[in-house]
Amino acid sequence: MYFLTDEERKQLSKGYLPRSRQMEIAEELRGWNWHQPPLAPVYDQRLALYEVANSYCSTNRDLYLRRIDGIKTRPNAAMIRGKIFHDILVRVLVRAKRLIYEKGVGNFQEILKQLNAPLSLGFLSEYQDQLQEAEFSELKKKAVTLAAFENARVAARVQEILVKQPYIAEDSLAALAIPVVVEQKLDGTFFGLSANLSADAYTFSEPMVLDLKFGRPQKFHQLTTTGYALVMEAIYEYPINLGCLVYAEFKGDRLVVKKDIHVIDEELRQWFIEERDEKMRMVYEEMDPGFGQCYDSCPYNLQCHG
Ligand code: SF4
Repeated sequence: MYFLTDEERKQLSKGYLPRSRQMEIAEELRGWNWHQPPLAPVYDQRLALYEVANSYCSTNRDLYLRRIDGIKTRPNAAMIRGKIFHDILVRVLVRAKRLIYEKGVGNFQEILKQLNAPLSLGFLSEYQDQLQEAEFSELKKKAVTLAAFENARVAARVQEILVKQPYIAEDSLAALAIPVVVEQKLDGTFFGLSANLSADAYTFSEPMVLDLKFGRPQKFHQLTTTGYALVMEAIYEYPINLGCLVYAEFKGDRLVVKKDIHVIDEELRQWFIEERDEKMRMVYEEMDPGFGQCYDSCPYNLQCHG
């Protein structure tokens, strides 16, 4: 899911990368300048990165209800599905890395055999009570499809590297075949964000933040990758110019994956900072923003509309 296809790699190397390297970004908008305006937070507040980046509620009343009224809601079915699918990808990739280190390159046949074996999905039962029976059974089918897809991709990549590199050892094989850190933990306190941020994936073959989405594409999704890029620049002090949103969708039994690779330019950086400041102000001043265009599955429907 996080691996680029040959076409995407070509687009990256001939399009996005040269463009991002030529791009000029004002120094004040680089994450390492977190201690001065406009990056330094004006309000003494902490928000989760998703609270800054998401705008599913057009007025952000969901944030107001959560932060000021302290209302916690049950996750809706889409949220549960998203959490499970993310978890499956983490499990597949971590299992693959573990197998490479545990078995060793000398036992590559065993690595490939186990990589091709289905992932254990016993953990899904934890969610059974939170979904209706039909929803849960549909979810299980999709979970199997997703795990099988990712397993096959990882196994093919391991095989590809082994064919090309006869003297490779475990550490290098793991890094080349699976060049991503999943659930990268980051401290976002420099920007008034949570101390425990978790980026879906970070690829170190080219500094690029990846975020996986299972819903409809939205323009504001690029704020998530932008937020993580700013935080990483603050922590590691090197530029992160690219983000990639991975959209996965089920069409019947088939999984369809599309990627939105984007340059994290000045406009996105400014937009992220403006959203952060506006939302922090709302929380700081305890201003109820009122209703906007509501959507059916909003978990706050009951609180807003009774
Ligand atoms: S019900 Fe409407 S106003 Fe309330 S949080 Fe949801 S989208 Fe926002």
